[in-house]
Amino acid sequence: MLGNIEDEWEFATKLLSEGAYFTKETSHPEALPIHMSTAHNVADLDDLQKRYDEGGFCYNRNRNPNRSALIDLMNCLEGGETSIACSSGMGAISSAIIANTKQGDHILSDRTLYGESIEIFTDILGKYGVETTFADFTDLEDVESKIQKNTVIFYTETVANPLIAVPDLKAVSELAKNQKALLIVDNTFMTGALVQPLYLGADLVVNSLTKFANGHSDAVCGAVTGKKELIKKIYDLQVLLGTQADPFSSWLVSRGIRTLDLRVKKQSKNAEALAEALEACQYVKKVHYPSLKSHAEHAIAEKEFAPYYGGMLSFEIDEDWDKMNLFFRSMNLAHYAMTLGGYRTTLSYPVMSSHESVPEEERLKMGITNGLLRVSVGIEEEKDIIHDFLHALEIAYGK
Ligand code: PLP
Repeated sequence: MLGNIEDEWEFATKLLSEGAYFTKETSHPEALPIHMSTAHNVADLDDLQKRYDEGGFCYNRNRNPNRSALIDLMNCLEGGETSIACSSGMGAISSAIIANTKQGDHILSDRTLYGESIEIFTDILGKYGVETTFADFTDLEDVESKIQKNTVIFYTETVANPLIAVPDLKAVSELAKNQKALLIVDNTFMTGALVQPLYLGADLVVNSLTKFANGHSDAVCGAVTGKKELIKKIYDLQVLLGTQADPFSSWLVSRGIRTLDLRVKKQSKNAEALAEALEACQYVKKVHYPSLKSHAEHAIAEKEFAPYYGGMLSFEIDEDWDKMNLFFRSMNLAHYAMTLGGYRTTLSYPVMSSHESVPEEERLKMGITNGLLRVSVGIEEEKDIIHDFLHALEIAYGK
């Protein structure tokens, strides 16, 4: 029987076996334990078969208790039937796309996305005979005009990176349904705490949980959520590709999500106040934030998100390297970081981070200028954040 330690075993053998199993009641601890084990022992072949039948725990790459717990939480967060939890946001995106395409298929993608999602389409899928066309998803006529007979996936972000564009998901989902194609939406910038794309017609929602969901900038993780039959297909591929979330990251992200609702609501309110302050600042040429009346998709955003418009904004200043450097150096609270969604306010320069690999001509066509700065707003006090930005701009512009 498992857990029996024979008295006559040699010392070296005992060292491997003593304390290998918990011997007292361990169920229902107040905080979830971390199960790092790569495998779970089974008693016999009946037990093994039972675990296969009920989706129990045998080998970590197939299933792990912390990953399963995160999956339960993601189903609640995104309002989906089931999920897979992945090693990163890119693991989630690539698994979802590859599982749903074959040679000869066509993908219709938003043109302003996280840069590495664009690379999956152009550099990876292109090699395997899956073609992608890019459209402006805030322009439904442009999207419609680019649908092909073989279009199988429509792909966009709830709030597109880094121009904070907001596609009308209900309208795009109608186009996808007419085409019998899947609508896949990356909800990383908003999270299910602010908007649930599955309720707006998406078939699958992908998330980089590395960002707002975890919120503490200490874990890399991702997820795909949707209907059982769609997720099963992606799960089967994930087991082969090995894109599953590890137990510790799953545990960290589950812990982070406990405070997500509190964090993103405060981040949204702070972002709205900062966007208004930047729009009123004489050195700022343009602010991209969906609560602003000046935002091109303000009406759609109001319908989809109000009263919380998310923690991400971007703004444009002069395309002047020295001024930008001085601005970054003069920030005291917010710092440059190649990530987003943490509890602290961070800044990035899309030209040298998320869109570094996109050729300049294409980048400029998307509207990502050399003066664009992206901000992920944290949970600091509103007035301190605003002061930090306005003060650094004053210094950069030599006032
Ligand atoms: N999707 C969006 C919108 C992102 O901003 C990112 C990363 O910044 C990703 C996906 C990729 O996530 P990860 O770094 O967890 O792979």
